[in-house]
Amino acid sequence: MIEIEQFPCLSDNFGVLVHDEKNGRTVSIDAPEAAAIETALSRRGWHLTDILVTHKHFDHIDGLAPLKDAYGCAIAGPKAEAEAIGMLDEELVEGDVYKAGSLAFSVIETPGHTLGQINFHCPQANALFAGDTLFSLGCGRLFEGSAADMFASLEKLKALPPQTHLYCGHEYTKANADFALSVDPGNDALKLRADQVLVLRAEGMPTLPVTLEREFAANPFLRTSDPAIRAGLGMEDADDVAVFAELRARKDRF
Ligand SMILES: [Zn+2]
Repeated sequence: MIEIEQFPCLSDNFGVLVHDEKNGRTVSIDAPEAAAIETALSRRGWHLTDILVTHKHFDHIDGLAPLKDAYGCAIAGPKAEAEAIGMLDEELVEGDVYKAGSLAFSVIETPGHTLGQINFHCPQANALFAGDTLFSLGCGRLFEGSAADMFASLEKLKALPPQTHLYCGHEYTKANADFALSVDPGNDALKLRADQVLVLRAEGMPTLPVTLEREFAANPFLRTSDPAIRAGLGMEDADDVAVFAELRARKDRF
């Protein structure tokens, strides 16, 4: 049996553990905060065996050294950011499959937020671990890559099975919903999701995971070909990358 434990870290990061009961392997996606991860591990009675790093930002790697000290776990992450991250036992590129017991994590390179960012798709867990590439109703800021880079990265994620559960690096969904409604106000799937997000946050509950299918229907950054969004932007005849760039620029100013 495979279990996923998601919990808050730092101010708005998610910690995520993937546990395979049969093999006793426990994989942490990123290492935002050692103490929160150790608390989650001891709550579940799990021993950390592996850490998979999505990208080099401090709020994803700050816990690497103390967790390595405490558990002697293996650490794998993007080859392109190996120097910035340090501590990688294994360097990963597009198409690699990281095996942790019976769990297999396919590596998808998703430049945009950072140039070396990678995501992990784990079919056995029916999960995509998207780091700061794709958020619910939003996407990562373009700190290093171009709009064309990020658009191409999101296209790769759109090819995954729609029933895949999206896990990501941050609880940003409420702010993303506010922006999404400003550019796609007539979208019923978006309105439904925004209402659900309000209820979840009022109850102190996380808004992730969510299926990719729901994101395809409601996340404007995955809907650049949508006629209503294009009409609202006055970009009926623009190419998808231009529409994406305009959405990303508007979100940055929102
Ligand atoms: Zn980041």
